[in-house]
Amino acid sequence: KIVSRFAPSPTGYLHIGGARTALFSWLLAKSSGGEFCLRIEDTDRERSTQDATDAIIDSMKWLGLEHDGEIVFQSSRMDRHNEVIDQLIENGHAYYCQCSKEDVDAMREKAMKEGRKPKYDGTCRENGLTEGVVRLKAPQEGATGFTDMVKGPITIENTEMDDMILRRTDGTPTYNLAVVVDDHDMGVNTVLRGDDHVNNTPRQILIYRAMGWDVPQFGHVPMILGPDKKKLSKRHGALSVMEYEKMGYLPEAVTNYLARLGWSHGDQELFTMEEMQALFSTDNLGNSPSVFDLTKFEWVNGQYMQKADPNRIADMLCDFYAREVGAEEAAKVEKETFAAVVPLLQPRAKSVIDMLEQARPFIADAAALPYDEKAVAKFLTEETKAYLEEIAGRIEALDEYTEQTLEDLHRQFLEDKDIKFKVIAQPIRVAIMGKTQSPGLFETMLVLGKEQTLARMKRALT
Ligand code: GLU
Repeated sequence: KIVSRFAPSPTGYLHIGGARTALFSWLLAKSSGGEFCLRIEDTDRERSTQDATDAIIDSMKWLGLEHDGEIVFQSSRMDRHNEVIDQLIENGHAYYCQCSKEDVDAMREKAMKEGRKPKYDGTCRENGLTEGVVRLKAPQEGATGFTDMVKGPITIENTEMDDMILRRTDGTPTYNLAVVVDDHDMGVNTVLRGDDHVNNTPRQILIYRAMGWDVPQFGHVPMILGPDKKKLSKRHGALSVMEYEKMGYLPEAVTNYLARLGWSHGDQELFTMEEMQALFSTDNLGNSPSVFDLTKFEWVNGQYMQKADPNRIADMLCDFYAREVGAEEAAKVEKETFAAVVPLLQPRAKSVIDMLEQARPFIADAAALPYDEKAVAKFLTEETKAYLEEIAGRIEALDEYTEQTLEDLHRQFLEDKDIKFKVIAQPIRVAIMGKTQSPGLFETMLVLGKEQTLARMKRALT
């Protein structure tokens, strides 16, 4: 059974790169009925913040990347890390070292001059010291290798690896040690992470071996790049996950798009979480950096906007509206009002925020409807106003106010006046929506209701 994990450092918000790593790791576990753990690597007390931790947890929840078991906080495990370091000293796989920084620098320089990799020369290995930093007694011969699930076989000569520090002078365990101990104790057997960690892996494997522990499977996923093929910048979408939420994107669009950045299944573009779970395999993970394409992402989001349950979108509209104007003001607009508009706007809205923008003329009261002055000047002429007045009169007289009766009414009007629809379409639109873009005229009138439609037409006539 696969046990995978996501192990972010809460030194900043969860960005989409990290979210994608988390998603792949989650999919890997879920595709095989395994478990997915979350560990917050908060050992850097200076750079870790509670805000960032909360944001990571919120982001994971929003994306639907539920973790199994309790969240593990690395900072709470320092005693355990030190216990393992002590064991390594006892079993001869680690030793104390008191070489100063200057000593080590000199060794490095010497090695470089002799054309070797700069490294600590092992001076304290046999000194039998009982204080100082603790270093791993790394093997000097042979090589350490693993088969990366994404990159294939990777091998590094042991002569190229330092006797790395496991515990600093201040008694704190180092990053590589803590990661290994935590992954081992959490039962993690499959590590999928960003390829900025690929150089740590052979070093971590040495620690596993020294402890006689099973070495997990490793996979390193390449970075996400911007359209300029450089590190993804804010301008190109390197935002935190919660910023995507705030912009009104749907979480399933984010996970779908992120999964497709580096993973593929034929040329299928749209996948539900369930489908991805069923189809995911690291065999289809690409080994070259992917380029984030905001336009494509918006297209994916638009697809999900169209498919989403209108009721859910209506709830989101209420929520976003309340965030904007406050709960009290927002309560004046009924959810039903939003719910009625959603199906009209679903085919075109790029995001919930975009939809809220388009919904505004629907929720405004006739008296408060903003008018696009240019459109008014162009379309509300003496001639069209006369038509509007007559149409309003006919609408008022309607017994049944339906899309069909509205359509019939207008057809009759065009016939009576012997004019084309386009003569009155934009004037009516400007009158009832304040602008020239809106969904279909009759469905718009229907959603507005007879009273609002007439009130707006009358206001436009004055
Ligand atoms: N905490 C590390 C990071 O945020 C990840 C460590 C790991 O995945 O092994 O980059």
